[in-house]
Amino acid sequence: MSTAARKTPDTELSQFRVKGEIPVPVLINWLTMVAVPLLCFFAWRSSFREDPVVPPLLVGFAVLLAVNSIVYWVSGHRTLQRRGFITIITVLFTYLAVHAVEDGSAIIWLFAYPPIIFYISESRIGVIACGGGFAAVILLFSPLGDLLFSPPYSTSFRLTMIAVLGFEMVTCYILDQSRRRSKLGLLKLAAEFEYAAKHDALTGLANRREALEQLEAEYQRYLRHDRTFSVLLLDIDLFKSVNDNHGHHIGDELIVQVANTLREECRRVDTVARWGGEEYLVVLPETGPADALNSANRIREAFARKTVATEQGPIQATLSVGVASIRRAESIDRLLQRCDEALYRAKSRGRNRACGDEETVAA
Ligand code: GH3
Ligand code: MG
Ligand code: MG
Repeated sequence: MSTAARKTPDTELSQFRVKGEIPVPVLINWLTMVAVPLLCFFAWRSSFREDPVVPPLLVGFAVLLAVNSIVYWVSGHRTLQRRGFITIITVLFTYLAVHAVEDGSAIIWLFAYPPIIFYISESRIGVIACGGGFAAVILLFSPLGDLLFSPPYSTSFRLTMIAVLGFEMVTCYILDQSRRRSKLGLLKLAAEFEYAAKHDALTGLANRREALEQLEAEYQRYLRHDRTFSVLLLDIDLFKSVNDNHGHHIGDELIVQVANTLREECRRVDTVARWGGEEYLVVLPETGPADALNSANRIREAFARKTVATEQGPIQATLSVGVASIRRAESIDRLLQRCDEALYRAKSRGRNRACGDEETVAA
């Protein structure tokens, strides 16, 4: 949902459903289930009083609609089902209008065409199909139509039909546009909520909940495929004094700067999260203790080179890092606890350093 809401609305929109919306394949199947008996009924009725070709043709349309739905049930091909349905009903409505079936009253069924087309297809297709249908009706009612098909419609019926059909098509277009805009708005809102639920507002990094989810996923990969991984717990050194001496806004800038450093230094497969106030967690997939310690030191050194401008001039800060790699049969909680202990060791040994599993002190 999240990416879809940012893409072009019309082509992508139909893939996503908001609650309560009838899926297009279901609607087509329902319409088919209503249309098939109706067509058979009118075929039976017209067998007493009309052109002998009308009943088999109406039954033929019923069979085509039924086959279209059966093909969908078998293949699950949504686009094929939609295109097949549009083609069949377009030909059917044209036939009903041109041949003045049911003493010419069957043309009234044309009013069902615009809402169906706009609902089941993209807005562009709806406009093309309705525009084409409208032009066809005008042609049928024109002197040229009289010459070609000699339809039995009175002048007042033709004028009313054109006016009401045109009005209906415009109304359907406006309603469809507003439906699509509302849907897009809902999808965007859902995407924003989803993003907010997973990310930290200040830094844009994953938040603690998302980090735990990614950690769980990595842990499951480890249990299943024995793919080792490591975690880093990073904490800004003496951060309280930055807040106290320069104000919270400078503290916030420093927090963002660590986030930027992590983005620059970590791989795309790594999960980088703001774990708490000035603490960060990094999950390093397929990384053993030595590589994890190297990464920790690379991040630490990169951050130590950066400065933040304050009224008293540029300031620098450092990071302490705890490093832990997963061990056989241990839980995530235990892994995080060992990482926290490693961080504590880094702090107690003088800060601005990384401590690993084997109590290796680097830097
Ligand atoms: P140490 O080297 O032992 O980690 O010392 P420290 O001062 O960094 O540690 P401490 O945990 O005592 O301080 C963390 C401070 O971070 C306390 C809190 O006010 C501040 N803090 C937490 N979240 C934020 C935030 O979002 N913005 C700012 N500006 N400060 C924050
Ligand atoms: Mg802290
Ligand atoms: Mg700190």
